[in-house]
Amino acid sequence: MTVAVPLIIVVSGPGGAGKGTIVDELVARDEQLWLSRSWTTRKQREGESDDAYVFVDRDTFLQHIEQDGFLEWTEFLGNLYGSPMPTPEDGHDIVLEIELHGAQQVKVRHPEALLVFVQPPSREEQRRRLQGRGDPDHHVVERLRKADDEERLGAELADLVVVNDDIDRVVGELLGFIGVARQRQG
Ligand code: 5GP
Repeated sequence: MTVAVPLIIVVSGPGGAGKGTIVDELVARDEQLWLSRSWTTRKQREGESDDAYVFVDRDTFLQHIEQDGFLEWTEFLGNLYGSPMPTPEDGHDIVLEIELHGAQQVKVRHPEALLVFVQPPSREEQRRRLQGRGDPDHHVVERLRKADDEERLGAELADLVVVNDDIDRVVGELLGFIGVARQRQG
């Protein structure tokens, strides 16, 4: 029996683009998708669920890098984030929700990975979403400052660019895109 090689779907985009909501909807609507849970050294936010990340200290994270335990990792606004080597069940495709530097690393290791770049509908809406999350003001400013460059690079690298102005439409578009990739894979 041959086991299908999983697709790797990378959902990237600037902070406040709405990537998290999109991937939650994707995995809720397509049970063949397996969502990777990242590790981070960031402190858990107030009200953030315990399984949003594997929350670890810096030493634990650095040890895991030494053991070659990450598919990709990066430092973002002073905290480390990384995707552990994925372990999907058979017949599942992998979804990673990560920032652009990590997405580039995945593409280098797996050029066949599908990179979806999510853009916020506007800077104003992006600011509103970032502020609503309770991040410190200087992080919000820093993320907005980075967004123009990220969007330029993201548009170059991505297999699909979506503007997140309507969650149902975006999720539908992504499910269609994934369906086509599965058919191509055979
Ligand atoms: P936050 O602190 O807001 O949860 O995440 C900050 C940024 O890190 C977001 O853009 C998020 O997508 C990204 N991120 C989350 N997990 C990972 C990961 O495992 N690797 C990389 N490269 N970025 C991640």
